[in-house]
Amino acid sequence: MNTETPPIDWLATGDLVLADRIVEGGTVAVAGGKIAGVFEAGESPSGPVVRDYSGRYILPGLVDTHVHASSVEPETIESSTGAAAAGGVTTIVDMPYDRAAPVMGIDRLREKVETVQAEAIVDVGLYGTMPKVDGVGVLDELVEGGVCAFKFSLFEYDAHRFPRIADGDLVAAFEKLSASGVPIVLHNELQEIVDYALAQLLDTPAENDPLAHGLSHPPVSETAASVKALDFAYWTGARLHLAHCTHPHTFRLIDVYRQLGADVSGETCAHYLVLSERDVAELGPIAKVNPPIRDEQAREDLWRALQDGRIATISTDHAPWPIEKKQSSMLRASPGAPGLETLLAAIFTEGEKRGVALPELLGYLTWRPAEIFGLGDRKGQLVVGMDADLTVFDARTPHRYDATQSLCSAKWSPFDGREFAGRVVATYVRGEIVFEDGRLVGEPGSGEWLRRTALADGS
Ligand SMILES: [Zn+2]
Repeated sequence: MNTETPPIDWLATGDLVLADRIVEGGTVAVAGGKIAGVFEAGESPSGPVVRDYSGRYILPGLVDTHVHASSVEPETIESSTGAAAAGGVTTIVDMPYDRAAPVMGIDRLREKVETVQAEAIVDVGLYGTMPKVDGVGVLDELVEGGVCAFKFSLFEYDAHRFPRIADGDLVAAFEKLSASGVPIVLHNELQEIVDYALAQLLDTPAENDPLAHGLSHPPVSETAASVKALDFAYWTGARLHLAHCTHPHTFRLIDVYRQLGADVSGETCAHYLVLSERDVAELGPIAKVNPPIRDEQAREDLWRALQDGRIATISTDHAPWPIEKKQSSMLRASPGAPGLETLLAAIFTEGEKRGVALPELLGYLTWRPAEIFGLGDRKGQLVVGMDADLTVFDARTPHRYDATQSLCSAKWSPFDGREFAGRVVATYVRGEIVFEDGRLVGEPGSGEWLRRTALADGS
Protein backbone atom coordinates (compact mmCIF):
# COMPACT_ATOMS: atom_id res chain seq x y z
CA MET A 1 0.00 0.00 0.00
CA ASN A 2 0.98 3.64 -0.03
CA THR A 3 4.15 4.60 1.75
CA GLU A 4 4.64 8.20 0.56
CA THR A 5 4.16 10.43 3.54
CA PRO A 6 4.84 14.10 4.20
CA PRO A 7 5.59 14.84 7.89
CA ILE A 8 2.94 12.91 9.78
CA ASP A 9 0.84 14.72 12.40
CA TRP A 10 -0.67 11.61 13.89
CA LEU A 11 -1.56 7.98 13.26
CA ALA A 12 -4.68 6.00 14.09
CA THR A 13 -4.66 2.23 14.39
CA GLY A 14 -7.71 0.00 14.22
CA ASP A 15 -9.75 -2.08 11.78
CA LEU A 16 -9.86 0.05 8.63
CA VAL A 17 -13.04 -0.23 6.60
CA LEU A 18 -12.17 0.08 2.92
CA ALA A 19 -14.54 -0.21 -0.05
CA ASP A 20 -13.74 -3.89 -0.61
CA ARG A 21 -12.47 -5.25 2.71
CA ILE A 22 -11.51 -4.61 6.31
CA VAL A 23 -7.81 -4.22 7.18
CA GLU A 24 -7.54 -5.57 10.72
CA GLY A 25 -4.95 -3.77 12.80
CA GLY A 26 -4.26 -1.26 10.03
CA THR A 27 -3.05 2.33 10.36
CA VAL A 28 -4.15 5.63 8.85
CA ALA A 29 -1.58 8.43 8.76
CA VAL A 30 -2.82 12.02 8.86
CA ALA A 31 -0.85 15.07 7.73
CA GLY A 32 -2.14 18.60 7.23
CA GLY A 33 -5.74 17.47 7.59
CA LYS A 34 -5.39 14.94 4.76
CA ILE A 35 -4.97 11.20 4.69
CA ALA A 36 -1.24 10.72 4.13
CA GLY A 37 -1.05 6.93 4.19
CA VAL A 38 -3.10 3.76 4.63
CA PHE A 39 -1.13 0.80 5.96
CA GLU A 40 -1.63 -2.92 6.54
CA ALA A 41 -0.98 -4.41 9.97
CA GLY A 42 2.75 -4.43 10.69
CA GLU A 43 3.51 -1.86 7.96
CA SER A 44 2.84 1.26 9.97
CA PRO A 45 5.43 4.04 9.95
CA SER A 46 6.34 5.74 13.19
CA GLY A 47 4.64 8.98 14.10
CA PRO A 48 4.63 11.53 16.88
CA VAL A 49 1.14 10.59 18.10
CA VAL A 50 -0.57 7.21 17.82
CA ARG A 51 -4.29 6.99 18.56
CA ASP A 52 -5.01 3.41 19.42
CA TYR A 53 -8.43 2.21 18.30
CA SER A 54 -7.52 -1.47 18.27
CA GLY A 55 -10.60 -3.67 17.97
CA ARG A 56 -12.71 -0.78 16.70
CA TYR A 57 -13.62 0.13 13.13
CA ILE A 58 -12.14 3.20 11.47
CA LEU A 59 -14.33 4.32 8.58
CA PRO A 60 -14.31 7.30 6.26
CA GLY A 61 -16.65 9.92 7.78
CA LEU A 62 -20.23 9.54 6.60
CA VAL A 63 -21.75 11.86 4.00
CA ASP A 64 -25.44 12.59 4.57
CA THR A 65 -26.90 14.43 1.61
CA HIS A 66 -30.42 14.96 2.96
CA VAL A 67 -30.52 17.17 6.07
CA HIS A 68 -32.98 19.87 7.20
CA ALA A 69 -30.75 21.88 9.54
CA SER A 70 -32.33 25.22 8.75
CA SER A 71 -35.99 24.41 8.08
CA VAL A 72 -37.51 24.62 11.51
CA GLU A 73 -36.77 26.33 14.83
CA PRO A 74 -34.90 25.77 17.05
CA GLU A 75 -32.65 23.51 14.93
CA THR A 76 -29.61 25.28 13.48
CA ILE A 77 -26.53 24.46 11.43
CA GLU A 78 -24.71 24.31 14.78
CA SER A 79 -27.09 21.79 16.39
CA SER A 80 -27.41 19.64 13.27
CA THR A 81 -23.66 19.51 12.70
CA GLY A 82 -23.16 18.70 16.41
CA ALA A 83 -25.55 15.76 16.04
CA ALA A 84 -23.75 14.82 12.82
CA ALA A 85 -20.41 14.70 14.68
CA ALA A 86 -21.96 12.45 17.32
CA GLY A 87 -23.25 10.15 14.58
CA GLY A 88 -19.95 9.90 12.70
CA VAL A 89 -21.29 12.07 9.85
CA THR A 90 -18.53 14.46 8.75
CA THR A 91 -20.32 16.02 5.78
CA ILE A 92 -23.93 17.09 5.49
CA VAL A 93 -25.69 18.66 2.54
CA ASP A 94 -28.40 21.00 3.83
CA MET A 95 -31.78 21.41 2.16
CA PRO A 96 -32.74 24.82 0.72
CA TYR A 97 -36.19 25.25 2.32
CA ASP A 98 -34.99 27.52 5.12
CA ARG A 99 -37.36 29.20 7.54
CA ALA A 100 -35.51 32.53 7.05
CA ALA A 101 -35.87 32.40 3.28
CA PRO A 102 -35.38 29.54 0.83
CA VAL A 103 -32.10 29.39 -1.13
CA MET A 104 -33.58 30.73 -4.38
CA GLY A 105 -30.84 33.12 -5.46
CA ILE A 106 -27.17 33.98 -5.10
CA ASP A 107 -27.58 36.57 -2.33
CA ARG A 108 -29.41 34.11 -0.10
CA LEU A 109 -26.79 31.44 -0.90
CA ARG A 110 -23.97 33.80 0.14
CA GLU A 111 -25.80 34.64 3.36
CA LYS A 112 -26.22 30.96 4.16
CA VAL A 113 -22.55 30.26 3.43
CA GLU A 114 -21.72 32.85 6.10
CA THR A 115 -23.98 31.10 8.58
CA VAL A 116 -22.27 27.79 7.80
CA GLN A 117 -18.82 29.32 8.25
CA ALA A 118 -19.84 30.75 11.63
CA GLU A 119 -21.72 27.74 13.02
CA ALA A 120 -20.72 24.47 11.41
CA ILE A 121 -18.90 21.77 13.38
CA VAL A 122 -18.65 19.31 10.47
CA ASP A 123 -18.41 20.23 6.77
CA VAL A 124 -21.52 21.42 4.95
CA GLY A 125 -22.58 21.49 1.30
CA LEU A 126 -25.73 23.34 0.27
CA TYR A 127 -28.73 22.80 -1.97
CA GLY A 128 -30.38 25.48 -4.06
CA THR A 129 -33.95 25.61 -5.32
CA MET A 130 -36.11 27.94 -7.40
CA PRO A 131 -39.24 30.07 -6.99
CA LYS A 132 -42.60 28.51 -7.75
CA VAL A 133 -43.30 30.71 -10.77
CA ASP A 134 -40.84 31.51 -13.59
CA GLY A 135 -37.96 30.40 -11.41
CA VAL A 136 -35.39 29.01 -13.86
CA GLY A 137 -33.57 32.34 -14.04
CA VAL A 138 -31.90 31.71 -10.68
CA LEU A 139 -30.38 28.33 -11.59
CA ASP A 140 -27.21 29.45 -13.37
CA GLU A 141 -26.10 31.80 -10.58
CA LEU A 142 -26.63 29.06 -8.00
CA VAL A 143 -24.60 26.55 -10.05
CA GLU A 144 -21.90 29.19 -10.37
CA GLY A 145 -22.20 29.86 -6.63
CA GLY A 146 -21.26 26.25 -5.85
CA VAL A 147 -24.45 24.47 -4.76
CA CYS A 148 -24.03 20.69 -4.57
CA ALA A 149 -27.51 19.94 -5.90
CA PHE A 150 -30.98 21.35 -6.48
CA LYS A 151 -34.10 20.25 -4.65
CA PHE A 152 -37.50 20.56 -6.31
CA SER A 153 -40.83 19.20 -5.19
CA LEU A 154 -43.89 17.80 -6.90
CA PHE A 155 -45.73 18.27 -3.61
CA GLU A 156 -46.58 21.58 -1.98
CA TYR A 157 -45.68 22.00 1.68
CA ASP A 158 -45.54 25.79 1.67
CA ALA A 159 -46.24 27.97 -1.37
CA HIS A 160 -43.21 30.16 -0.71
CA ARG A 161 -40.71 28.13 1.30
CA PHE A 162 -41.29 24.60 -0.10
CA PRO A 163 -43.42 25.00 -3.23
CA ARG A 164 -44.70 22.51 -5.71
CA ILE A 165 -43.09 23.23 -9.06
CA ALA A 166 -45.46 22.86 -12.02
CA ASP A 167 -44.49 20.43 -14.78
CA GLY A 168 -43.66 23.11 -17.36
CA ASP A 169 -41.29 24.94 -15.02
CA LEU A 170 -39.81 21.64 -13.95
CA VAL A 171 -39.02 20.50 -17.50
CA ALA A 172 -37.49 23.93 -18.17
CA ALA A 173 -35.31 23.51 -15.05
CA PHE A 174 -34.26 20.00 -16.06
CA GLU A 175 -33.30 21.35 -19.51
CA LYS A 176 -31.35 24.24 -18.06
CA LEU A 177 -29.44 22.04 -15.61
CA SER A 178 -28.71 19.13 -17.94
CA ALA A 179 -25.38 20.51 -19.17
CA SER A 180 -24.17 21.35 -15.65
CA GLY A 181 -24.22 17.77 -14.31
CA VAL A 182 -25.50 19.17 -11.00
CA PRO A 183 -28.05 16.67 -9.72
CA ILE A 184 -31.72 17.45 -9.33
CA VAL A 185 -33.05 15.85 -6.16
CA LEU A 186 -36.78 15.48 -6.36
CA HIS A 187 -39.47 15.14 -3.73
CA ASN A 188 -41.58 12.59 -5.57
CA GLU A 189 -45.18 12.54 -4.40
CA LEU A 190 -48.22 13.42 -6.51
CA GLN A 191 -50.34 16.05 -4.82
CA GLU A 192 -53.78 15.04 -6.15
CA ILE A 193 -53.42 11.41 -5.07
CA VAL A 194 -52.46 12.48 -1.55
CA ASP A 195 -55.13 15.19 -1.37
CA TYR A 196 -57.83 12.75 -2.46
CA ALA A 197 -56.79 10.08 0.05
CA LEU A 198 -56.45 12.64 2.85
CA ALA A 199 -59.95 13.96 2.21
CA GLN A 200 -61.34 10.47 2.83
CA LEU A 201 -59.57 10.20 6.19
CA LEU A 202 -59.50 13.65 7.78
CA ASP A 203 -62.20 14.32 10.39
CA THR A 204 -63.04 10.62 10.63
CA PRO A 205 -62.08 8.20 13.45
CA ALA A 206 -59.23 7.05 11.16
CA GLU A 207 -57.50 10.41 11.69
CA ASN A 208 -55.87 9.09 14.84
CA ASP A 209 -54.94 5.69 13.41
CA PRO A 210 -51.13 5.55 13.15
CA LEU A 211 -51.46 3.71 9.84
CA ALA A 212 -53.70 6.43 8.38
CA HIS A 213 -50.63 8.40 7.27
CA GLY A 214 -49.52 5.50 5.08
CA LEU A 215 -53.02 5.27 3.59
CA SER A 216 -53.02 8.99 2.86
CA HIS A 217 -49.69 8.76 0.98
CA PRO A 218 -50.04 5.42 -0.84
CA PRO A 219 -47.03 3.98 -2.69
CA VAL A 220 -48.58 4.94 -6.05
CA SER A 221 -48.32 8.63 -5.12
CA GLU A 222 -44.55 8.09 -4.92
CA THR A 223 -44.04 5.67 -7.79
CA ALA A 224 -46.21 7.55 -10.31
CA ALA A 225 -44.45 10.80 -9.38
CA SER A 226 -41.14 9.02 -9.88
CA VAL A 227 -42.10 7.88 -13.38
CA LYS A 228 -42.92 11.47 -14.31
CA ALA A 229 -39.58 12.77 -13.02
CA LEU A 230 -37.64 9.90 -14.57
CA ASP A 231 -39.25 10.65 -17.90
CA PHE A 232 -38.34 14.35 -17.61
CA ALA A 233 -34.74 13.23 -17.01
CA TYR A 234 -34.92 10.87 -19.99
CA TRP A 235 -35.99 13.62 -22.40
CA THR A 236 -33.74 16.38 -21.06
CA GLY A 237 -30.57 14.49 -20.13
CA ALA A 238 -30.63 16.00 -16.62
CA ARG A 239 -28.98 14.18 -13.71
CA LEU A 240 -31.84 13.07 -11.43
CA HIS A 241 -31.50 11.62 -7.92
CA LEU A 242 -34.89 10.73 -6.42
CA ALA A 243 -35.18 11.67 -2.74
CA HIS A 244 -36.34 9.43 0.11
CA CYS A 245 -37.70 6.49 -1.90
CA THR A 246 -39.72 4.23 0.37
CA HIS A 247 -40.71 1.43 -1.93
CA PRO A 248 -38.80 -1.17 -3.95
CA HIS A 249 -41.02 -0.46 -6.96
CA THR A 250 -39.47 3.02 -7.23
CA PHE A 251 -36.04 1.40 -7.59
CA ARG A 252 -37.36 -0.95 -10.29
CA LEU A 253 -38.54 2.11 -12.22
CA ILE A 254 -35.15 3.80 -11.77
CA ASP A 255 -33.54 0.66 -13.22
CA VAL A 256 -35.84 0.73 -16.24
CA TYR A 257 -34.91 4.33 -16.99
CA ARG A 258 -31.22 3.65 -16.46
CA GLN A 259 -31.51 0.90 -19.04
CA LEU A 260 -33.10 3.45 -21.38
CA GLY A 261 -30.00 5.61 -20.93
CA ALA A 262 -31.29 8.17 -18.43
CA ASP A 263 -28.82 9.53 -15.87
CA VAL A 264 -30.87 8.65 -12.78
CA SER A 265 -30.51 7.18 -9.31
CA GLY A 266 -32.33 7.13 -6.00
CA GLU A 267 -31.79 7.40 -2.28
CA THR A 268 -33.62 5.69 0.51
CA CYS A 269 -33.47 6.77 4.15
CA ALA A 270 -32.35 4.89 7.22
CA HIS A 271 -35.87 4.83 8.68
CA TYR A 272 -37.24 2.91 5.67
CA LEU A 273 -34.54 0.25 6.12
CA VAL A 274 -34.84 0.01 9.89
CA LEU A 275 -38.52 0.59 10.73
CA SER A 276 -41.81 -0.73 9.38
CA GLU A 277 -45.51 -0.04 9.84
CA ARG A 278 -45.30 -2.12 13.02
CA ASP A 279 -43.09 0.53 14.58
CA VAL A 280 -45.37 3.27 13.26
CA ALA A 281 -48.35 1.51 14.88
CA GLU A 282 -46.46 1.59 18.18
CA LEU A 283 -44.89 5.04 17.97
CA GLY A 284 -47.61 7.03 16.18
CA PRO A 285 -46.66 10.58 15.08
CA ILE A 286 -43.07 10.16 16.37
CA ALA A 287 -42.55 7.82 13.39
CA LYS A 288 -44.49 10.00 10.95
CA VAL A 289 -42.24 10.90 8.03
CA ASN A 290 -42.92 11.82 4.41
CA PRO A 291 -43.27 9.69 2.41
CA PRO A 292 -44.46 7.18 5.03
CA ILE A 293 -42.66 4.15 6.40
CA ARG A 294 -44.13 1.10 4.60
CA ASP A 295 -44.84 -2.50 5.62
CA GLU A 296 -42.29 -5.17 6.49
CA GLN A 297 -42.38 -6.67 3.01
CA ALA A 298 -41.38 -3.32 1.49
CA ARG A 299 -38.60 -2.93 4.06
CA GLU A 300 -37.14 -6.36 3.32
CA ASP A 301 -37.45 -5.77 -0.43
CA LEU A 302 -35.55 -2.52 0.04
CA TRP A 303 -32.72 -4.50 1.63
CA ARG A 304 -32.76 -6.83 -1.38
CA ALA A 305 -32.72 -3.83 -3.73
CA LEU A 306 -29.76 -2.51 -1.77
CA GLN A 307 -27.87 -5.77 -2.11
CA ASP A 308 -28.70 -5.89 -5.82
CA GLY A 309 -27.08 -2.47 -6.27
CA ARG A 310 -30.32 -0.70 -7.21
CA ILE A 311 -30.15 1.91 -4.45
CA ALA A 312 -27.49 4.60 -4.76
CA THR A 313 -27.43 6.27 -1.35
CA ILE A 314 -28.84 6.12 2.19
CA SER A 315 -29.63 9.42 3.89
CA THR A 316 -31.36 10.53 7.08
CA ASP A 317 -33.85 13.24 5.96
CA HIS A 318 -32.95 14.63 9.41
CA ALA A 319 -35.91 16.88 10.37
CA PRO A 320 -36.04 17.43 14.14
CA TRP A 321 -39.39 19.08 14.82
CA PRO A 322 -40.17 20.45 18.27
CA ILE A 323 -42.08 17.71 20.09
CA GLU A 324 -45.25 19.90 20.19
CA LYS A 325 -45.54 19.42 16.42
CA LYS A 326 -45.86 15.69 17.02
CA GLN A 327 -48.51 16.02 19.70
CA SER A 328 -51.61 15.97 17.54
CA SER A 329 -53.51 13.42 15.48
CA MET A 330 -51.56 11.18 13.13
CA LEU A 331 -52.81 13.04 10.08
CA ARG A 332 -52.19 16.52 11.49
CA ALA A 333 -48.80 16.01 13.18
CA SER A 334 -45.73 17.28 11.29
CA PRO A 335 -43.88 14.70 9.21
CA GLY A 336 -40.15 14.29 9.87
CA ALA A 337 -37.74 12.93 12.46
CA PRO A 338 -34.13 13.43 13.56
CA GLY A 339 -31.66 10.86 12.26
CA LEU A 340 -28.05 12.08 12.14
CA GLU A 341 -26.94 10.53 15.43
CA THR A 342 -28.42 7.12 14.71
CA LEU A 343 -27.61 6.69 11.00
CA LEU A 344 -24.48 4.55 11.22
CA ALA A 345 -25.43 2.57 14.32
CA ALA A 346 -28.89 1.77 12.95
CA ILE A 347 -27.75 0.73 9.48
CA PHE A 348 -24.81 -1.27 10.85
CA THR A 349 -27.16 -3.10 13.26
CA GLU A 350 -29.77 -3.93 10.63
CA GLY A 351 -27.11 -4.86 8.08
CA GLU A 352 -25.53 -7.25 10.53
CA LYS A 353 -28.90 -8.96 11.12
CA ARG A 354 -29.17 -9.60 7.38
CA GLY A 355 -25.54 -10.59 6.82
CA VAL A 356 -24.61 -7.37 5.00
CA ALA A 357 -21.07 -6.51 6.02
CA LEU A 358 -19.72 -3.05 6.74
CA PRO A 359 -17.62 -2.68 3.55
CA GLU A 360 -20.75 -3.49 1.54
CA LEU A 361 -22.73 -0.81 3.39
CA LEU A 362 -20.02 1.81 3.14
CA GLY A 363 -20.68 3.01 -0.42
CA TYR A 364 -24.26 4.04 0.38
CA LEU A 365 -23.11 6.20 3.27
CA THR A 366 -19.79 7.63 2.12
CA TRP A 367 -18.19 7.70 -1.32
CA ARG A 368 -21.30 7.36 -3.50
CA PRO A 369 -23.21 10.31 -2.00
CA ALA A 370 -19.93 12.27 -2.09
CA GLU A 371 -19.52 11.56 -5.80
CA ILE A 372 -23.12 12.31 -6.78
CA PHE A 373 -23.02 15.62 -4.91
CA GLY A 374 -19.70 16.68 -6.44
CA LEU A 375 -17.55 16.16 -3.34
CA GLY A 376 -15.92 12.88 -4.34
CA ASP A 377 -12.47 14.39 -4.78
CA ARG A 378 -12.28 15.24 -1.05
CA LYS A 379 -14.80 13.13 0.82
CA GLY A 380 -15.96 9.58 1.38
CA GLN A 381 -12.92 7.29 1.21
CA LEU A 382 -9.89 6.23 3.22
CA VAL A 383 -7.54 7.06 0.37
CA VAL A 384 -4.33 9.09 0.31
CA GLY A 385 -4.98 12.74 -0.52
CA MET A 386 -8.58 12.78 0.70
CA ASP A 387 -9.69 14.83 3.70
CA ALA A 388 -8.87 13.04 6.97
CA ASP A 389 -12.52 12.62 7.93
CA LEU A 390 -12.57 9.55 10.18
CA THR A 391 -15.30 7.86 12.15
CA VAL A 392 -14.41 5.37 14.86
CA PHE A 393 -17.16 2.84 15.53
CA ASP A 394 -17.07 0.44 18.47
CA ALA A 395 -19.09 -2.72 17.77
CA ARG A 396 -17.63 -4.71 20.67
CA THR A 397 -20.59 -3.99 22.94
CA PRO A 398 -24.22 -3.13 22.18
CA HIS A 399 -25.42 0.37 22.98
CA ARG A 400 -28.88 1.65 23.86
CA TYR A 401 -29.70 4.96 22.19
CA ASP A 402 -31.07 7.64 24.54
CA ALA A 403 -32.66 10.48 22.57
CA THR A 404 -32.94 12.71 25.65
CA GLN A 405 -29.16 13.15 25.41
CA SER A 406 -29.30 14.17 21.75
CA LEU A 407 -27.09 17.02 20.53
CA CYS A 408 -29.72 18.17 18.03
CA SER A 409 -32.64 20.33 19.11
CA ALA A 410 -35.11 17.42 19.34
CA LYS A 411 -34.81 15.21 22.40
CA TRP A 412 -37.03 12.51 20.90
CA SER A 413 -36.51 9.97 18.13
CA PRO A 414 -38.23 6.95 16.60
CA PHE A 415 -35.01 5.14 17.60
CA ASP A 416 -35.16 6.19 21.25
CA GLY A 417 -34.44 3.23 23.54
CA ARG A 418 -33.39 0.98 20.67
CA GLU A 419 -30.43 -1.30 21.16
CA PHE A 420 -27.78 -0.90 18.48
CA ALA A 421 -24.87 -3.28 17.87
CA GLY A 422 -22.36 -0.51 18.56
CA ARG A 423 -21.77 3.23 18.71
CA VAL A 424 -19.60 6.00 17.37
CA VAL A 425 -16.77 6.73 19.83
CA ALA A 426 -14.75 9.34 17.93
CA THR A 427 -15.19 11.56 14.86
CA TYR A 428 -12.51 13.58 13.07
CA VAL A 429 -13.03 16.27 10.44
CA ARG A 430 -9.96 17.14 8.32
CA GLY A 431 -7.75 15.65 11.00
CA GLU A 432 -9.32 17.52 13.95
CA ILE A 433 -11.32 15.67 16.57
CA VAL A 434 -14.91 16.93 16.87
CA PHE A 435 -16.54 14.20 18.97
CA GLU A 436 -15.05 11.84 21.53
CA ASP A 437 -16.52 9.45 24.13
CA GLY A 438 -19.98 10.95 24.12
CA ARG A 439 -18.75 14.56 24.20
CA LEU A 440 -18.85 17.18 21.49
CA VAL A 441 -15.40 18.77 21.31
CA GLY A 442 -15.61 20.54 17.94
CA GLU A 443 -16.13 24.30 17.95
CA PRO A 444 -18.78 26.10 15.90
CA GLY A 445 -17.01 27.54 12.87
CA SER A 446 -14.52 24.68 12.57
CA GLY A 447 -16.68 23.12 9.84
CA GLU A 448 -16.19 24.35 6.28
CA TRP A 449 -18.62 25.21 3.54
CA LEU A 450 -18.11 22.78 0.67
CA ARG A 451 -18.45 24.09 -2.84
CA ARG A 452 -19.36 21.49 -5.45
CA THR A 453 -16.07 20.65 -7.11
CA ALA A 454 -16.71 17.82 -9.51
CA LEU A 455 -19.23 16.78 -12.10
CA ALA A 456 -21.65 13.98 -11.28
CA ASP A 457 -20.23 10.52 -11.74
CA GLY A 458 -22.77 9.85 -14.47
CA SER A 459 -23.65 6.47 -13.01
ZN1 LIG B 1 -36.38 16.00 3.34
